[in-house]
Amino acid sequence: MKTYRIATIPGDGIGKEVVPAGAEVLQALAASGGGFRFEFEDFGWGGDWYRAHGEMMPADGLEALKGKDAILFGSAGDPQIPDHITLWGLRLKICQGFDQYANVRPTRILPGIDAPLKRCKPEDLDWVIVRENSEGEYAGVGGRVHQGHPIEAATDVSIMTRAGVERVLRFAFKLAQSRPRKQLTVVTKSNAQRHAMVMWDEIANEVAREFPDVKWDKELVDAMTARMVNKPATLDTVVATNLHADILSDLAAALAGSLGIAPTANLDPERRYPSMFEPIHGSAFDIMGKGLANPVGTFWSCVMLLEHLGEQEAAQRLMAAIEAVTADTSLHTGDLGGTARTADVTRAVIARLAR
Ligand code: ATP
Repeated sequence: MKTYRIATIPGDGIGKEVVPAGAEVLQALAASGGGFRFEFEDFGWGGDWYRAHGEMMPADGLEALKGKDAILFGSAGDPQIPDHITLWGLRLKICQGFDQYANVRPTRILPGIDAPLKRCKPEDLDWVIVRENSEGEYAGVGGRVHQGHPIEAATDVSIMTRAGVERVLRFAFKLAQSRPRKQLTVVTKSNAQRHAMVMWDEIANEVAREFPDVKWDKELVDAMTARMVNKPATLDTVVATNLHADILSDLAAALAGSLGIAPTANLDPERRYPSMFEPIHGSAFDIMGKGLANPVGTFWSCVMLLEHLGEQEAAQRLMAAIEAVTADTSLHTGDLGGTARTADVTRAVIARLAR
């Protein structure tokens, strides 16, 4: 029997509730047949680790993760620690250390979910947003001078490399090609950003020639927000820079009904390193420790994890169980207007898997 070695990193806030729920569901899935098992190792990194050790994760933490088949991550964020420290010290350290350059975020309106776009039928909204995840606006290049003085200055320099842009666009074209509609929208801002985004557009034209069967178009990021709201059915696969896709994918999650549902995968498509799967929501300190977090975003992330491992049948089985549970409004958590608890949703998904 195949054994998959999974690292779990709950992190902070509700991550500590939804990641154990995800691990429980994966164990139940393995136990219900499929010819594989999971071996989990839990890493208690995050805000508490920072308070004890002065860093979000150990300096050699990546070494401990290297041999894993995948990572299931919760969230990083702590009210007592500045956001840039929690983000750069843990999640980005893993994404960048393992060169997980493609961040993939599917969005659909799941059964039973009351999404805010009243004119949009659930089948009109079926998107996958690919976010460049290794450079661009979040390259971390910049600095501050004259701190605290009136002449203080600060820069964040967006770095785009031909290799970096090419690989993420090629990944997005390939993903679009694998989906029934074979359609890609390349998000840009080359009207205002006249260097890197113009190169981004040029490379899109070049890479597109390798995929003659993929229909593609270009959209300015500002116009894209309106198109997502007004004409959701005109979109399928979308690719955008690190910053643009960060924002657009939160909008996508909201349009699909809740931040609590949306999943994401940080992929190293070349499989040199483990890829990392996580719900897109943050630590949600307002509800942490109360058992109220919606675990569906984590469960859907587990579906992506299974797909990445090549366990397509198990992935489909888990997705079907998730959809059966969201269809039952008595199993909706507070973010969806219900009163169900994390444990109720988890139990219901596991019961469904056992059938
Ligand atoms: P961070 O700073 O770590 O990104 P945040 O608390 O600012 O976290 P989110 O956690 O992403 O932002 O979400 C904002 C709000 O949405 C939360 O305060 C919470 O009320 C709600 N929310 C997010 N995720 C969930 C979830 N899984 N279940 C229920 N509510 C959620």
